[in-house]
Amino acid sequence: MQKRGKFIVFEGLDGSGQSTQAEILVKFLKRRKIKTHLTKEPTNNLIGGLIRGQLQGDWESTPECLQLLFSADRAHHIKKEVSPYLKKGINVVCDRYLFSTIAFGSLEIPDWNWLKEINKRFLLPDVVYYLKVSPRKCIKRITESRFSFELFEKEKKLKIIEESYMRLAKEYDVFQIIKGERSIKEVAEEIKKKTLKIL
Ligand code: ADP
Repeated sequence: MQKRGKFIVFEGLDGSGQSTQAEILVKFLKRRKIKTHLTKEPTNNLIGGLIRGQLQGDWESTPECLQLLFSADRAHHIKKEVSPYLKKGINVVCDRYLFSTIAFGSLEIPDWNWLKEINKRFLLPDVVYYLKVSPRKCIKRITESRFSFELFEKEKKLKIIEESYMRLAKEYDVFQIIKGERSIKEVAEEIKKKTLKIL
């Protein structure tokens, strides 16, 4: 029987290096002839487009509507993309997954159980690499501007999201916390080693 692929997820605050590390890992595995597919959430499909539209302020609904769209996008993503690859024995590396929506969603929706409930039936990854980078450092990485009140507000929000991620790390044993404030290469080396062990 075909061995199922591994489902590997990257999580973290914006600017923590998820896209960078997901790409490096996929290139590394492909060079070793290990079949791997790179994907991300929200997707580029129809529902993903609705989500991006709302995040960018093109249209407005409610925080609950946004969360349900994330779940709908995910249900489609798993059925049409993630599961078929895994079944073919191809590993899937996903840049953000349900943990992002719970952690970011917790900013506006205090009902933690509801946020988990609407994600309960989705496939759990084999491993989640959480890139731990302080909110301040993340902001520094994504903006060149000087520290301002607006950034201070942003940092406060990121701290809340970070706390939610730390709660998730306790609730899901697939979470691995990676020290993300090292160089891109150092972080990548640790992730490569960990991944080769689970493949
Ligand atoms: P994310 O996908 O988590 O939002 P990115 O991978 O897009 O983050 O990285 C955000 C920015 O930070 C990019 O400019 C990237 O080159 C830079 N970056 C990523 N990892 C590191 C690192 N370990 N050290 C310094 N800069 C980094």
